[in-house]
Amino acid sequence: MAAAPRTKTTGWTLLCLLTACVTVASPGSGSAAWAATPAAPDVAPPVAADPAPPAAPPPPYGFGTVNGFGQHAEHERITRAALSCTPQRTGNDCFQPHSLDQLAGKSGTFGAVGVPDVDETFDASAHCDDADFLAVAGYPQSRTAATVTLGRCVNHLKADFSRGVTRAAEMVRAGVVAADEVGLAPDCTFALGVPGRAKCDALEGFGRALHGTQDFYSHSNWTDRADPSRRTGPHNPPGLARTVPAPFLNLAAPAALSTVPASLTTGCFSVWPGGCAGRLTHETLNKDTGLIDAATGAATAPTTSRGQVAGNFGAAVTVAIDSTRGQWKGFQDALTASYGPAEGTRLACALTHDHPVRDC
Ligand SMILES: [Zn+2]
Repeated sequence: MAAAPRTKTTGWTLLCLLTACVTVASPGSGSAAWAATPAAPDVAPPVAADPAPPAAPPPPYGFGTVNGFGQHAEHERITRAALSCTPQRTGNDCFQPHSLDQLAGKSGTFGAVGVPDVDETFDASAHCDDADFLAVAGYPQSRTAATVTLGRCVNHLKADFSRGVTRAAEMVRAGVVAADEVGLAPDCTFALGVPGRAKCDALEGFGRALHGTQDFYSHSNWTDRADPSRRTGPHNPPGLARTVPAPFLNLAAPAALSTVPASLTTGCFSVWPGGCAGRLTHETLNKDTGLIDAATGAATAPTTSRGQVAGNFGAAVTVAIDSTRGQWKGFQDALTASYGPAEGTRLACALTHDHPVRDC
């Protein structure tokens, strides 16, 4: 059963409204796509400009972060489904409730995984956007350029991940967990990268990295399939139907970009009219929104056009959850590689446990 809908506080809503205002005022091809999109006409190469988008509600810039505007806290629910403690997932393999609230967000907060939608909204590299490519004559971006753009996303997220590993070390002083660096009252604040308690900063780095890696599966054709009832083209690109996370986004040890499949694409996103003219858009490709069970990860009721095809929303969510678990495993490996097995294990304990002074 899906978790009960949450609502956000007025303060966060104001931020969302700010984004919405920008978007509504400038309905570019990328942003508008998020609305339930009418079936686009089949287009054969050469690539034509996208049809004018319909009037649209404000977009999420990736899996959703808030409840409202058509979003259902998708990043939070993916993160909870991946990393909540259960009888089967215990110890440092999961996050205890209050620590998970900081990472995933809860009612009234975005959490670390949601904060890129607050302060990196229009940075494509934080959301793996603009790495669009279609193998048709005259496509506006080459395969090489698309892969370079994807590489910027990998590097951006790797930097977030590494900052988290660096800051984590300050949770322990002389072999002892430092109480003043691991407290979670009041809740962590993440926006704008203002430094704070070491645990909060470490969670921020890891959460920002998770955001972009989760977005990749919504924003790309890595997991999805084309609509078999329509001709493939810029409004119905081929899907790769992969069922495991992308190795080049394994942030602890990314595979070389030479492993990027030739037909991989993400969507072009722009809030400006014509900003993605002739390109495969976020609007066409995203699988951002629907209902996700925060306990089981079951994904239902997709609301984007690509998400409604061939189980695409569920496929993206499933691999995003798998990826999230893998990134946490990689983060623990990075702690061990940086600080040694004993210290690395203690730091992972301090991040995941709600009472680390006592328990770690
Ligand atoms: Zn995003």
